[in-house]
Amino acid sequence: MTDTIVTDVLICGAGAAGLTLSIELARRGVAFRLIDSLDAPFPGSRGKGIQPRSQEIFEDIGVLDKLVAIGGFYPQPRAYRPDGSYESAVSEPVVPASGEPYHLPLLVPQFLTERILRARLTELGGRLEFSRTLTGFEQDADGVTVLLACAAGTETVRAKYLIGADGGRSLVRHALNIGFPGRTLGVRAIVADVMLTGLGREAWHRFHESDLQRQISLCPLAGTPLFQLQAPIPLEGEADLSVEGLAALVAARTGREDIAIQSVAWASAYSMNARLADRYRVGRVLLAGDAAHVHPPTGGQGLNTSVQDSYNLGWKLAAVIAGADDGLLDTYQEERRPVAAAMLGLSTKLLEAAGRGDSRRGRDVQQLDISYAGASLALELPARSGGLAAGDRAPDAPIGKAAGQPGRLFQVFSGSHWTLLACETGGDALPPRPGLHIHTVGPAGDLVDTDGHVRDAYGWQPGDLTLVRPDGYVGAIAGPDQAAALEVYLRRVGLAAEAVTHG
Ligand SMILES: Cc1cc2nc3c(=O)[nH]c(=O)nc-3n(C[C@H](O)[C@H](O)[C@H](O)COP(=O)(O)OP(=O)(O)OC[C@H]3O[C@@H](n4cnc5c(N)ncnc54)[C@H](O)[C@@H]3O)c2cc1C
Repeated sequence: MTDTIVTDVLICGAGAAGLTLSIELARRGVAFRLIDSLDAPFPGSRGKGIQPRSQEIFEDIGVLDKLVAIGGFYPQPRAYRPDGSYESAVSEPVVPASGEPYHLPLLVPQFLTERILRARLTELGGRLEFSRTLTGFEQDADGVTVLLACAAGTETVRAKYLIGADGGRSLVRHALNIGFPGRTLGVRAIVADVMLTGLGREAWHRFHESDLQRQISLCPLAGTPLFQLQAPIPLEGEADLSVEGLAALVAARTGREDIAIQSVAWASAYSMNARLADRYRVGRVLLAGDAAHVHPPTGGQGLNTSVQDSYNLGWKLAAVIAGADDGLLDTYQEERRPVAAAMLGLSTKLLEAAGRGDSRRGRDVQQLDISYAGASLALELPARSGGLAAGDRAPDAPIGKAAGQPGRLFQVFSGSHWTLLACETGGDALPPRPGLHIHTVGPAGDLVDTDGHVRDAYGWQPGDLTLVRPDGYVGAIAGPDQAAALEVYLRRVGLAAEAVTHG
């Protein structure tokens, strides 16, 4: 076969994972193709919860304000008693923290989130190709040859890397023969987007919360006139997803005749699984999103974990394609698989609690404490005891700019670059180079720690150097005499000093 490389990366699947990855590659000028077997965007609301950590990521990639504008926040849960009276949950007041700008989950139906991501991809010059199905592939030392089926017949694409972002039933994962151990959780549910009358949009209406046989919830979907219906159903048997079928289900479970289903925009009956791929990478083929892990929907973790897989993989893939050592790609599984394992445990635990009528959520669902500390890309010299660790999420903080304007650290990090923050001195410890932004934070620096928030969040001593990765995690924290070690680190991630342009 005389294939020519036509692209650097082929991304199979344009759900949340594939779209985020394509945006990350487009931002960095990497050539890619993004394909999906669907003929048109997926219409269902599915993953409607966007957690605070994902909001930070969406801020960085330039879509957060659009998501807030098109969606909204969760309405108060309203638990109905058998006599028709109800109790509304009272939320704890949210205490703003300088290091964490977002605390509340956003409610945006997944089809709207994906619409915003597609628009951002277009702004960046990227393109999504519908009606193209990956049917097989072969890899060798230099690339992957991929077979696509499309209306015109078949197409062969040669790419340096193939990413299977093709969902829970991933053909890519199957073709690689990667194990997907875990368990079927013995819970089957209906999820449907419906138009209805008889319920207000100010609450998330929940009936029979502690009875799995009779539970049903109806949540108004921000940004649409729809409600998302969720209800467990028996493991066996046909699920009637028609207007009449869902109307009968609602009437039987709520005991109310005033709720009328008018139409069904999308509906599905699915069995819940908790499964994790044994590997995320085989050679030049990697998995992202639900292709690598499937969880129950409790706690709203799946879409968020998928987006964050791609946010972790995107900069690494771009760095390797630009010449960094290919071993950098191994840190993707090293960092992301343990996160998925923990999320799988969390969402399964929450599913069990939901079966007992307990729908409380803790800080762990927010995903703000995800850390890659202890993994091979986390460097501390000297090792630190307590406080911020290398591998932790780099906190936000209000800052002043030397020219007089206020700002935030997240604005300094925003973009596809690495950031080196020097505490008071040391901004010249490393030579400048493409892809690295260097700032000195202090009274004589270009950034001013006006109220000490940076010092408190980063636990600094004068002369300390903190390297922040493009995905907003701390790569390295080093003392003033560790510039040589930072050079070695930067070479590993594709920012070698040889690339320096003096001027
Ligand atoms: C009821 C429900 C509620 C949920 N609630 C939440 C929530 O509140 N929060 C949350 O974070 N998550 C939630 N999730 C999970 C969330 O929907 C998924 O985790 C998310 O869609 C995963 O994104 P993905 O891009 O990895 O995969 P998908 O969205 O499944 O996208 C995969 C894409 O690959 C395409 N594809 C597949 N095979 C091929 C092929 N051979 N060739 C070309 N294209 C292919 C498919 O057409 C599809 O578009 C929920 C899920 C359900 C079912």
